[in-house]
Amino acid sequence: MDWNSPVSLLKGIGEQREKKLQKLGISTIEDLLTHYPREYKDRSEILKIADLPMEEPSTFLAQVKEEGQNSRHGRLVYTRMKVYDETGSVGILWYNQPYMKNSLKIGEWYLFSGKLQKKYGRKEILSPEVERIGENFAGGRIIPVYPASEGISQKMLRNLMEDALSQMSGGMREELPLWLRKEYKLAERNFAIENIHFPKTEQGFYDSRRRLVFEELFILQTALYQLKYTLEDSGEGIILKKKKALQEGEGMLPFALTGAQKRVLKEIEKDMTSGKIMNRLVQGDVGSGKTAVAIITAYWAIQNGYQAAIMAPTEVLANQHFASFQKIFEPAGIRVVLLTGSLKAKEKREALAQVKNGEAQMIVGTHAVIQKGVEYHKLGLAITDEQHRFGVRQRSTLAEKGEAVHTLVMTATPIPRTLALILYGDLDISIIDELPPGRQKINTSAVDSRYHQRIYAFIQKHVKEGRQAYVICPMIEENEKLEVQNVLDYTEELVRELPACRVACVHGRMKAKEKQEIMECFAAGEIDVLVSTTVIEVGINVPNATIMLIENAERFGLAQLHQLRGRVGRGSEKSYCILVSDTKTKIAKERMKTMTESEDGFVISEKDLKLRGPGEFFGIRQHGLPELKIADLYKDMTILKEAQSAAADLLRKDRFLEEEEHLLLKEHIAEYLEGKTLEM
Ligand code: ADP
Ligand code: MG
Repeated sequence: MDWNSPVSLLKGIGEQREKKLQKLGISTIEDLLTHYPREYKDRSEILKIADLPMEEPSTFLAQVKEEGQNSRHGRLVYTRMKVYDETGSVGILWYNQPYMKNSLKIGEWYLFSGKLQKKYGRKEILSPEVERIGENFAGGRIIPVYPASEGISQKMLRNLMEDALSQMSGGMREELPLWLRKEYKLAERNFAIENIHFPKTEQGFYDSRRRLVFEELFILQTALYQLKYTLEDSGEGIILKKKKALQEGEGMLPFALTGAQKRVLKEIEKDMTSGKIMNRLVQGDVGSGKTAVAIITAYWAIQNGYQAAIMAPTEVLANQHFASFQKIFEPAGIRVVLLTGSLKAKEKREALAQVKNGEAQMIVGTHAVIQKGVEYHKLGLAITDEQHRFGVRQRSTLAEKGEAVHTLVMTATPIPRTLALILYGDLDISIIDELPPGRQKINTSAVDSRYHQRIYAFIQKHVKEGRQAYVICPMIEENEKLEVQNVLDYTEELVRELPACRVACVHGRMKAKEKQEIMECFAAGEIDVLVSTTVIEVGINVPNATIMLIENAERFGLAQLHQLRGRVGRGSEKSYCILVSDTKTKIAKERMKTMTESEDGFVISEKDLKLRGPGEFFGIRQHGLPELKIADLYKDMTILKEAQSAAADLLRKDRFLEEEEHLLLKEHIAEYLEGKTLEM
């Protein structure tokens, strides 16, 4: 039997059970032994009856000497029994489990686990768990509890694990090289797998878990780094000169850069003068000024005779970027061209021709910028904005439109750095961790729907003073048609409720052109209140909008609420975010509380992680990462850091994993990259 043998080789596995195990994702011995326990019950310390403490879960070994008694008290059936060891006896009480009376046999020894409590004047053990002790009982232990499914009991899983472990008997291959295990003090693999299922001591358990979590994260991170190095090795990067252009570009902006923007630009400068191909992620909270960084970087590339392109996830955003770039570049005589799906045929032809002959120096657009048939004259810099909407594939398609093109990716998703290393493991990371000066705190309140009249009055008052408002309408999940109707109905209601305001809406079923026109009207101040679903979630910049009203706020995750709120507070006027929710669940309350208390994207995303778990958080799945079997990206942050530095160590030592002691790892990682496809 080896790691890849089918589980059907184990005792007691017929066709039926094989199927049921498959439902748990278990078909090989490896699957089985890496089906790790969800929790444990501590049965390791076995007490004598005379030493049993009050009110504490404890385990003791005792003999049944006389039959139990059932009695009825109203609706309850009590089963009482006395059990013995050499130090004395103790009473046991079960509620509504009359069968317990006959399930324990006189003369036999059992392991009982429960709490000694004083009830009705008697000291008794209340509803303990009972395990019959076989002949080869070798002391108590910690019992694993597995994520199980119908038809597969805990007991059966435990037996299977024991069987598989004994058949493998230490024969599992150690994949981590000795130097690594020494340096990071990692338990050996056989020990770890045995002890994760049946820990003999507490220390053994911690050591085992740490080793397995480490292994899982280490392999993932190594795989990602390899991917990254492959990108870096794919050619020599364009070396940009004329550093003076960076200062010039800075001087063209209507404001002074923040310290954080400057630092990030330095990091970019280092990349683009190094001879390597840049693959950099710029992470910055909403409103931190990522566009300015993109503009200066693009200006530098253009001054060096290259074209620069920026790809945005929606037409609305592409148009907005187009306006921002044009405002800065046009006076400098730089030609900016827009490329989106809704250009007219003639406009498109002209744009494409200019991209090809090099007349277009700055290209701004949507996916349209990477489509077949778009040929660049001399692309040197590819920027993608709001990365989580794009995949690695799309990103690299843009870069492939030229030779040795530098890539800059911008995202507003604030995630802790260590986590970013996993989610964006193929990129270097820069963080803009400072907002431009003079931003006012956004006043955030969480209310229920009884406040609607007051909210409407509030909006009207502000509109009269010349401000504008966003209203995020309640969502209807997974039904676009209903959702559109819903936006329309709700807009109609607002038109009635806000007679003094010009109300309009955008929704998912509108043509890009139509959406664009409405957004433009809103930006120009011709619309006062803009109703939408979350289409305006990312990137929109209308500084005169000062109110963000979010209906059914409980339906949104914290990160999303934070993004939405980031649409206001962009100008000099005081801004407000109003969260409306009638849901009183704990998680909803916690979210509202976090939103009203914090404006820091990193704090909020940490909280989001805590509340939702990393799996759901902006979708680890969505990033194409495999599900983790034992590691918890949030709780195991410390191990993650170690695993990351270990992965870097390893690849520094042996870049292609060619040394003898790294061959098993290499094999595993290759399998991993193949099987799990890091699609991202
Ligand atoms: P995001 O990082 O969310 O994409 P933007 O690039 O849209 O943010 O910038 C948000 C707003 O802040 C814009 O109005 C922009 O002009 C302004 N801004 C950016 N950097 C600065 C700065 N250093 N000083 C003042 N305002 C700035
Ligand atoms: Mg932006």
